[in-house]
Amino acid sequence: MTEETKPSNFIRNLIDADLAAGKYSTVRTRFPPEPNGYLHFGHAKSICLNFGLAKDYGGACHLRFDDTNPEKEEQEYVDSIIDAVRWLGWDWGPHLYYASNYFGKMYEFAEKLIEANLAYVDSQSAEEMRQNRGTLTEPGRDSPYRNRTVAENLELFRRMKAGEFPDGAHVLRAKIDMASPNINLRDPAIYRIKHATHHNTGDAWCIYPMYTYAHPIEDALEGITHSLCTLEFEDQRPFYDWLLDNLANLGCLQRPLPRQIEFARLNLTYVVLSKRKLIQLVEEKHVAGWDDPRMPTLVGARRRGYTPEGFRRFAEMIGVAKSDALIDYAVFEECQREVLNETAPRRIAVLDPLKLVIDNYPDGQEEECCAPNHPQKPEWGQRTIPFSKELWIEREDFTENAPKGYFRLFPGNRVRLRYGYVVECVGCDKDAAGNVTAVHCRYFPDSKSGTPGADAYKVKGNLHWVSARHAYEARVRLYDRLFKVPNPGAEGDFLADLNPDSVKIITAQLEPALKDAQPEERFQFERHGYFIADRVDSQPGAPVFNRTATLKDSWK
Ligand code: ATP
Ligand code: MG
Repeated sequence: MTEETKPSNFIRNLIDADLAAGKYSTVRTRFPPEPNGYLHFGHAKSICLNFGLAKDYGGACHLRFDDTNPEKEEQEYVDSIIDAVRWLGWDWGPHLYYASNYFGKMYEFAEKLIEANLAYVDSQSAEEMRQNRGTLTEPGRDSPYRNRTVAENLELFRRMKAGEFPDGAHVLRAKIDMASPNINLRDPAIYRIKHATHHNTGDAWCIYPMYTYAHPIEDALEGITHSLCTLEFEDQRPFYDWLLDNLANLGCLQRPLPRQIEFARLNLTYVVLSKRKLIQLVEEKHVAGWDDPRMPTLVGARRRGYTPEGFRRFAEMIGVAKSDALIDYAVFEECQREVLNETAPRRIAVLDPLKLVIDNYPDGQEEECCAPNHPQKPEWGQRTIPFSKELWIEREDFTENAPKGYFRLFPGNRVRLRYGYVVECVGCDKDAAGNVTAVHCRYFPDSKSGTPGADAYKVKGNLHWVSARHAYEARVRLYDRLFKVPNPGAEGDFLADLNPDSVKIITAQLEPALKDAQPEERFQFERHGYFIADRVDSQPGAPVFNRTATLKDSWK
């Protein structure tokens, strides 16, 4: 999509108005993950929105780790987030930042607020503070410590920083209004004591800024113009503005200040996007890990075979809105299928193999058949696939007693072996239990696809096959939805809604060239869907395949 044809949305309209009014001369956004988990499909929406806007307006988008909480954050998550944003196709150039790099500034600004009598050290217990906060209908009550002198506050805050107090003994609070109708303005805490080692700053600090204090400062220090966040931060916006405005008045920050804009988070049917639930799925081993191809994480999506372009297309398609909506997973899958259809070369795979013997084909003989790599893209050329006396076909492509309208193999019927010959079924072998173990056919030597005689044969069935002698026998994992209901957990425990058949592992017979598939190579297996060579379990010369999606939505 070009700039001109991009659908406008309320965020673009606000940005356009800001630029037109001369409030900002450029657009600078940021994606600010907290490194306390792996990124999921919801984050992809935020990433595509922030990086996409920066790109469209010729601005910049920062990747910033919001690492203000020392206890839950880990380097493993930092690394996986960097990988995931890159994988989605975005580039932050030199703009990689950590909130923890601003701890010094944040502390300095907190002292400035104290000196301006805009912050104070509160020594109430957490319980007292809760009681005095009030409710939605009742105003809060001032803390008995609210009127400490500037000198007393400064001294206490410095001693907090010096490590003289245990966790929870004091907090620094903004001094705003305990009677405000917006609870977020009732003297929110901005610093707390936490004797914890931080993944980036080690033991340099034992007081840490609260997210609501840190985040606006990070945005302002980086010159962010539009700070996009999800709707639950709407009530925080007055504090965001209060803080930045006061810090600018105190000379700590430059104007123009960033503007916070909220949008609806992504909710998708058949998945859970809460970090807590995702962690539970991993820790309780309901899945094989964060990158299990059934997980709605970006590492999972990557192994599953979903494409970055499909994510970007999906983000464009759903756009941004001001109110929460539940998007059907089928919409996401359809975006992925569109991309996969355009980009995945075709290959042949028999997923439920049954032997087909061509009785009148010479025993040791073999020959090549030509198959296009993509039916709509002749420029992708053709490949050859070997043909011989014994082939694998799908078990469902043979029946002894054909119902009306069944055009595949049954005794007496003729079908085309796709890209090969026309064959006529002459019977089958069975084991003692009556199961079909092989199908017998005879072939018509002048019927080969692409030869002048081929057109003389009119058949309705067109079956795919692989030569038994040449086939690559592979492990293939057929993934399905992780949850069996559209809204997991709506009726209680989300774990009770897990789909017990979300993965099926089979041994399939694949066209021989697939043996050389490289990890992460994607294909359409004709008639079956889209598959990818798994990036973790594949060995050189022995790829394992994951099904990304069926050709159509089989869930309806
Ligand atoms: P937490 O509860 O740990 O804060 P989070 O899902 O908000 O979880 P963050 O790492 O803080 O995770 O999120 C980074 C960015 O991604 C934030 O700007 C957040 O608003 C955005 N984001 C998170 N989940 C979604 C979602 N479902 N849809 C759109 N954006 C999301
Ligand atoms: Mg968050």
